Amino acid sequence: MLNDGHEVLCVDNYSSGNLRNVEHLLNNSRFSVLRHDIVFPLDVEADQIYNLACPASPVHYQRDPIQTTKTCVYGAINMLELAERAKARILQASTSEVYGDPEVHPQPEDYWGRVNPVGIRSCYDEGKRCAETLFFDYHRQCNLEIKVVRIFNTYGPNMHPQDGRVVSNFIVQALKNEDITIYGDGQQTRSFCYVDDLIEGFSRMMNSSAELTGPLNLGNPGEFTMLELAEKVLRLTRSKSKLVFMPLPQDDPRVRRPNISLARNKLGWEPSVRLEDGLKETIAYFRKVLS
Ligand code: UDP
Repeated sequence: MLNDGHEVLCVDNYSSGNLRNVEHLLNNSRFSVLRHDIVFPLDVEADQIYNLACPASPVHYQRDPIQTTKTCVYGAINMLELAERAKARILQASTSEVYGDPEVHPQPEDYWGRVNPVGIRSCYDEGKRCAETLFFDYHRQCNLEIKVVRIFNTYGPNMHPQDGRVVSNFIVQALKNEDITIYGDGQQTRSFCYVDDLIEGFSRMMNSSAELTGPLNLGNPGEFTMLELAEKVLRLTRSKSKLVFMPLPQDDPRVRRPNISLARNKLGWEPSVRLEDGLKETIAYFRKVLS
């Protein structure tokens, strides 16, 4: 966005983010950072708002589940109120978690999902679902220009070594020659999207015609079991780590894969980075961090 000439205000409460990730931008006069928690109202000038706030790793969002729901719901209300006052267009980073443990595979946007409303993942799943409701009600009731994208398992450089999600866990474990922790039998699947592909999707969606509200899936349709992912990470890191099997967390979705026809048709978007290539970049990053 800076390269395109925009002024950028980055808002973060650093609950799971790190100022070091934007350090290289701090001496750009069009870039500024504000430490703020969007659970509380915010009043700034803006013409485009990307609401990406909320920990996305199960370990992090389950640590303080009440705060997670507040971030999703109060956060959405505060950002939508800001968008209304500033007359800004607003994009919501929603999630494939709105589909829960799905009975429809791959998941198209018109599938309503199967989510446990009272489980340990609900703070995130139901929080994000309620945020989508708020976005569409502000759109219908206040004429706000909204963009809702549903993100499927994104990964890449700058993830926290203790993020807790599977890609960073496996890579860090492999690089340290520690055991690779497979939850359950490792036959559950996920579709992993490299961060640069996702950002390209965000930008195309934000700048698409006003009628395109979403919800729109952004993800890589390549689908892998956790055992396949472990095998790739072990090979690419030439690690001596062994696999260990641990209990499957409650309500862990058995399968997940996006149907991205809508993104292809409306945005001309599809991912271009293969899992192996994205893993190589991410491994190189973690090697540097760990050394
Ligand atoms: N997983 C695993 N080992 C780990 C971390 C995660 O086997 O060290 C599994 C987890 O049970 C899930 C999948 O990997 O089936 C993806 O988990 P992640 O936390 O990355 O994201 P989720 O898609 O569940 O939100």
